Amino acid sequence: MSEQTRERSGRRVVIAGAGMAGVQTAVALREQGFDGPVTLIGAEPHPPYDRPPLSKGVLLGKGEEAAFDVDFTGLGIDLRLGRRVTGVRPADKEADTDQGPVGYDVLVAATGARPVRLPGTEDAAGVHVLHNLDDALRLRPVLERGESVVVVGAGWIGAEFTTAAREAGCEVTVVEATGRPLSGALPEEVAVPMGAWYAESGATLHTGARVERVEPGAVLLADGRRLRADAVVVGIGARPDTAWLGGAVELGPQGEVLADERLRASAPDVYAVGDCASFPSARYGERLLIHHWDNALQGARTVAGSILGETAAAPYDPVPYFWSEQFGRFVQYAGHHAAADTLLWRGSPRDAAWSVCWLREGRLVALLAVGRPRDLAQGRRLIASGALVDPGLARDPGRPLKSAVA
Ligand SMILES: Cc1cc2nc3c(=O)[nH]c(=O)nc-3n(C[C@H](O)[C@H](O)[C@H](O)COP(=O)(O)OP(=O)(O)OC[C@H]3O[C@@H](n4cnc5c(N)ncnc54)[C@H](O)[C@@H]3O)c2cc1C
Repeated sequence: MSEQTRERSGRRVVIAGAGMAGVQTAVALREQGFDGPVTLIGAEPHPPYDRPPLSKGVLLGKGEEAAFDVDFTGLGIDLRLGRRVTGVRPADKEADTDQGPVGYDVLVAATGARPVRLPGTEDAAGVHVLHNLDDALRLRPVLERGESVVVVGAGWIGAEFTTAAREAGCEVTVVEATGRPLSGALPEEVAVPMGAWYAESGATLHTGARVERVEPGAVLLADGRRLRADAVVVGIGARPDTAWLGGAVELGPQGEVLADERLRASAPDVYAVGDCASFPSARYGERLLIHHWDNALQGARTVAGSILGETAAAPYDPVPYFWSEQFGRFVQYAGHHAAADTLLWRGSPRDAAWSVCWLREGRLVALLAVGRPRDLAQGRRLIASGALVDPGLARDPGRPLKSAVA
């Protein structure tokens, strides 16, 4: 253990939020040699668990092993579940919880995101979101009974839920307010062909369709259509769950903690990681707010290093990565394409497998791979290296992407 790690090990670390980012921060602290007190506070009563299986196997009653395989006791992590952090007083170095205050020397905000509700349906019976284990367990009987479901929102969660519900034999109608699925994530020419996957699975997708209101047993659209619905699943995005921070740290437009490149928040000794925080990316020249699993994992390692004072370590600037399993396909994305100047296809969306590459000034900045995990792995490395890519070579799906370096 370095002198600095030894010195910093005397401090009490309190982590608010026992999801992926919070758990991995606690684990990374131990892995990196921190042997001081670590308290992990989670609002949910369940042992900490992983979210991606919730919209996949857990819904269908398969693969219930969503709990993290972490020996909290063995690692000396004081896990306090069913306890909500309600505020923080940086001047007193205290966090408030619904069961009294907790003193800290270092506080990590890892409270994730909260799903956006359809206005007016917050407490309506039969209207669901899919964000936590209880949501998934409430939806499981809907699938078991093969009910007819209206899904609001054709984003990642909407697509994965539709996949599971169709597999269970439910009648599924998806209503999407914009003109295509995944409109917040992908450009039209890429997302429109993906819309065909809904019909292929036997689901009905209505784009440009706004929900007017939900009534018992039906969803009414703004254009007057009435869709029968035993259950409604709302998947219209999530916002950082940071209200508990009050004015203690600076927040961004979506309520996210504005962290710096070492994931420090604006108050002393407060850090933020995962879905609740954005960070400045030098790679992409903008702040990124990422609601994906890999960011919670990688960010946690950076926070642990920052707490241990490893200023020599590289700033947090990952190549973002996520995956989705939908309609029998493995969809993966790496990078960030907002500022790309060129989009090129490797294969066609009519093929069983294809990829899309985004370049900026000749360098690969992002890649979407459908059933082409090798493209993803090679593309991710090319993005990280910043190498110049020959677009003509990269377009050839028969050629390994790594050999498209200019
Ligand atoms: C259904 C679903 C499927 C997903 N599938 C994929 C996928 O296939 N691929 C992918 O890359 N990503 C996926 N994601 C995203 C990924 O799971 C998240 O990015 C990741 O879980 C973020 O981790 P986090 O710890 O920041 O937040 P969370 O996992 O949300 O954990 C935050 C925790 O903090 C707790 N909390 C909130 N407020 C408080 C408080 N005040 N006090 C105490 N505790 C509090 C919450 O209860 C929660 O348990 C999925 C997400 C969902 C919801």
